[in-house]
Amino acid sequence: MKLPGVIFWFLVVLASALLSPAQAESFITIGTGGVTGVYYPAGGAICRLVNIQREQHGIRCAVESTDGSIYNLNAIRDGELDLGIVQSDWQYHAYLGTGVFADKGPFKSLRTVFSIYTEPFTVVARADAGIKTFADLKGKRVNIGNPGSGQRGTMEVLMEAMGWTTKSFAKVTQLNAAEQSRALCENKVDAIVFTVGHPNNTIKEATTACNSVIVPVSGPAVNKLIEENAFYQLASIPGGMYRGTPQAVSTFGIHATLVTSARMENEVIYQIVKSVFEHFSTFQKLHPAFSNLDPKEMMDNGLAAPLHDGAKKYFQEAASSK
Ligand code: GLU
Repeated sequence: MKLPGVIFWFLVVLASALLSPAQAESFITIGTGGVTGVYYPAGGAICRLVNIQREQHGIRCAVESTDGSIYNLNAIRDGELDLGIVQSDWQYHAYLGTGVFADKGPFKSLRTVFSIYTEPFTVVARADAGIKTFADLKGKRVNIGNPGSGQRGTMEVLMEAMGWTTKSFAKVTQLNAAEQSRALCENKVDAIVFTVGHPNNTIKEATTACNSVIVPVSGPAVNKLIEENAFYQLASIPGGMYRGTPQAVSTFGIHATLVTSARMENEVIYQIVKSVFEHFSTFQKLHPAFSNLDPKEMMDNGLAAPLHDGAKKYFQEAASSK
């Protein structure tokens, strides 16, 4: 049977639409952190910009709430997540197979996409706990963070630098970011720690549901860590952002970075980077922690693992079109 011409051409157009690479849908998942942190809304902001252009590139982006940086790095390595937001200290250690990743060996195919914002290591103490400095945490009840989170890893590094073990505290809990503010305000712990961008809902809750203060994290042990590790810098938490802390508080910090694996297609990573950088002012409006971002710094701050080729392609094109 011969098909009438019009039906024939309809089928040709339909088949080519279905088969054309631009229409082939890719589903990608970004691993983030707890819903009261900044990784989760940051992942949401990236996905939102990617999904607006879905008809053009065929990429559908979703976020997953996870335990945090160390979980995300392991899940990307195991192929369970496509991308993740991770602290630059743990990105460095995962790539080289050092620190908590010593048992796993180097994650050579780890790739960076871009850096986002600074995450100060943040300690909040109950106002009645008599904690004025980080050294005062000794002998207190402290939530050291859930396993898999970046703050848990960074807290352990800091404890070692101070010559402390978990026995140095009166009590140790391992609550996640979303649970810890409540534990602080219910007087179950004296202090909580979180490596996180500001402002965020965890610290907001911890400073409004009860009287608490943000404690400086400084001194010789912290200075030594900064001197010896390129991924640590001095950082501060702005004054007046949270109740009980009118002045800026000094601490140290790292960068929140978006990472992936070399197995991800160049075109997919290229489109993600393009979606964010070509709509940069929209991106910045999606979370107050993004208000001071500088796109130039995001191309190299805290990127120890190599850039993914798809990201490299976008940054090279953007540089040559200026
Ligand atoms: N820095 C934390 C981590 O690596 C997460 C911070 C957040 O959720 O914003 O686990």
